Amino acid sequence: MKKDESRGALVAAVHRREDFPRGGHAVVAMVGRSNVGKSSLLNRLLGADVARVGKTPGKTRGIYFYETRDGHHIADLPGAGYARRSKEEREGWARLADELFGSGRVSLALRLIDSRVPDASADVELRDYLEGVGVPSLAVATKWDRVGAAERVRARRAIEAEHGAVWPVSAKTGEGIDELRREIRRVISRGEERAHG
Ligand code: GDP
Repeated sequence: MKKDESRGALVAAVHRREDFPRGGHAVVAMVGRSNVGKSSLLNRLLGADVARVGKTPGKTRGIYFYETRDGHHIADLPGAGYARRSKEEREGWARLADELFGSGRVSLALRLIDSRVPDASADVELRDYLEGVGVPSLAVATKWDRVGAAERVRARRAIEAEHGAVWPVSAKTGEGIDELRREIRRVISRGEERAHG
């Protein structure tokens, strides 16, 4: 297989920390509640349909790593909605997520927030969790196409009040995707400069 054909491809499906991919790629982690639009955004960022959209929420799975065209990895963490999971499954997820975030390899976490639900407690918990473990994160407002033109300023302010600077995106129309990709590249290269200089 030629190298370019492998871009946007699944690199690893990880259920144990020993299996986190090696090789020094910068890792961008995507987190958010089930149904927030994570799979749809992931497919857009990768420019390929690799993640299943509308899958059963809360189904147990590991952390999936994909390689982007820009040469970094995106780690897709299962939805942080938890509602339909057993306590054991939740704890298993938390342990693996803790191990990933504690590994020092995550350059950036994308916190996905439903544009129309800016103050869900699970999203606020994720924000605080990432701050606590020292992982830089960006708030990404999903399904922005569903917010009408007249509502956008107010909707954006409501999200910013809870989550700080926000990148609104629509996986449906593609709005905001290039801007988000640019910001991801910017944060990663800033981290690399810091590491090397
Ligand atoms: P996940 O559970 O977080 O992975 O969310 P999915 O990507 O599976 O999306 C959940 C639902 O929201 C699906 O019905 C999608 O079609 C819909 N959806 C996802 N992104 C968008 C978007 O940008 N705009 C609109 N209108 N719907 C979206």
